[in-house]
Amino acid sequence: MNSYSLKGQVALVTGGDSGIGKGVALQLARAGAKVAINHVDAHEVAELTVDEIVSAGGEAYAIHADVSNEAEVQAMFADLYQRFGTIDILVNNAGLQRDSKFVDMTLEQWNTVLGINLTGQFLCAREAAREFIRRGVVAETSRAAGKIICMSSVHEVIPWGGHVNYATSKGGVMLMMKSLAQELAPHKIRVLSIGPGAIQTPINHSAWATPEALEKLLTLIPYNRVGQPEDIGKLAAWLASDEADYITGTTIFIDGGMTLYPGFADNG
Ligand code: NAD
Repeated sequence: MNSYSLKGQVALVTGGDSGIGKGVALQLARAGAKVAINHVDAHEVAELTVDEIVSAGGEAYAIHADVSNEAEVQAMFADLYQRFGTIDILVNNAGLQRDSKFVDMTLEQWNTVLGINLTGQFLCAREAAREFIRRGVVAETSRAAGKIICMSSVHEVIPWGGHVNYATSKGGVMLMMKSLAQELAPHKIRVLSIGPGAIQTPINHSAWATPEALEKLLTLIPYNRVGQPEDIGKLAAWLASDEADYITGTTIFIDGGMTLYPGFADNG
């Protein structure tokens, strides 16, 4: 049992039907939040997460929107307000990779990744911030007027050849998050990022799916295990709670030590 509660709060998790987003949605619901599960893929898949939450006694529903599309994002928030009245917690999680050697990278690969991973976070954060400012603090539910949690990556600080579009998007998320946190703090809005290392999800299937790939991946992780969506979900729920009320404008890395330059461990 958590020592905190998100009861009475409404959360939206983008890309909440898979991997980390699903792990976050389950933990937010477990802490008592009503959760909207955004998805761009098949509705039936998102409904599985909804069913899991509802059968555990929580409240959730699935809502379709491509986060890189302004009109769809605005329609999603309008639908959320009709359904749950307001929003207290936005988890900007949706993201993807379109990997390529830099010289072969197409403009479409570049624009797709930046459009979803960075512009998508901008569009959703802007809608949430508008509602947080309009409504203000509701003391019975939270000390903050709202919380925006951006799913970044260790690649906001670790350069990643072959993935220049992805690393650029996460570097962008870092300064978007910090600038937003600075601008919105006077409104009692907290904005922060989670920086996962290697988490076992469909996005990086090839990195853990075979014993050889896993062995190679573990050389990058001093703690010697791959992370699970639940690891990230537990952190997100805590960060959204008043237990973390004084945390804003920073990235919490959750990576088993991946950002500790493991290649230097025996090289002193
Ligand atoms: P995933 O592929 O399981 O989940 C990504 C989710 O984003 C899916 O639900 C997908 O449908 C959704 N999505 C993609 N495009 C979308 C769009 N246009 N509109 C709405 N939703 C869209 O992968 P994941 O690992 O769970 O990734 C979630 C987030 O975590 C991403 O932002 C990713 O960059 C980040 N991340 C993952 C890892 C990792 O090791 N898995 C590490 C660091 C950061």
